[in-house]
Amino acid sequence: MQQVTRPERDFGSLQTDKTPHVNERLLEHHLDDIRIVGYSVAGEETVIAAPELNVCFDIGKAPADVLPVDHVLLSHGHMDHAAGIAYYLSQRNFVGNAPGTILAPERLVDPIKSLLHVWGQIEGHVTPAKIVGMQPGDEYQIRRGLVARAFRINHGVPSLGFVIVEVRRKLKPELIDKSGPELVALKKQGIEIEYTMEVPLIAYCGDTAEGDWVQYDMVRKAKVLVLECTFFEADHVKRARAGYHMHVKDVARIIDRFDNSHFLLTHVTRRTAIGHAKRTLKRLVSDETYERVTFLMDRRKGKRAEPPLELPPPGASR
Ligand SMILES: [Zn+2]
Repeated sequence: MQQVTRPERDFGSLQTDKTPHVNERLLEHHLDDIRIVGYSVAGEETVIAAPELNVCFDIGKAPADVLPVDHVLLSHGHMDHAAGIAYYLSQRNFVGNAPGTILAPERLVDPIKSLLHVWGQIEGHVTPAKIVGMQPGDEYQIRRGLVARAFRINHGVPSLGFVIVEVRRKLKPELIDKSGPELVALKKQGIEIEYTMEVPLIAYCGDTAEGDWVQYDMVRKAKVLVLECTFFEADHVKRARAGYHMHVKDVARIIDRFDNSHFLLTHVTRRTAIGHAKRTLKRLVSDETYERVTFLMDRRKGKRAEPPLELPPPGASR
């Protein structure tokens, strides 16, 4: 039997001024009026938050910066995207935040609950959480006027993409010249004076190969499309197909015909330096398309996220 020893060790002494704070890993980009903070390297970790929209796409290893965000939208269960679920929920509970909400593919709901149950046995108490199962087409209200809508992606395991949609109520154009009292009178007669306008803000495709999602309007027209672009070498096309991932050639072909104002590319393999990734893509797309591209891990373009992240306005989603 193996002997258990407990040497005296001062773990505190391992911390020095040079110990990197977890926040230094995350990069921040401003795309139009949307602030995005995240980290994404294939097989290692993916976590991408839009703090002002109160959503975080995947949770990675639950870096401290994203803990205040109330909603985690989990694209699939691979460890590099999902490892931090229990920690995220537990830390929020620890600091007195409301229970976190996890929107996840329906088939992952029971396994996630089991995971939290097992952690309950380990920790001595079960962390409160709201786990919401989603299917393609399902919608969840993030706050008044803002919803998350799920769509089908293609990753070989239970998986979902999400689009964050701003829902605005607008006065019907034919009523624009009516006075206030006239509009009130119309309303009293039961006449609908407004219509609903939807503005897709961010579409997040998780890990995915090409699929039906390339035809969805809300994906093609979202202000920001967050898209994985894992492989870049010519002989890695097979690898991309086997893992249901995107090769730069796939990405180039797709984004050249999309209307998004910004493409935020994520999940680049460690094998490829960002400079090389940028040059490779630039050769494959029009100048006009390339202008709209940002690589999440481009340290020249993004800046380090400065802690603490701004909290969403109080009561924004509760
Ligand atoms: Zn994956």
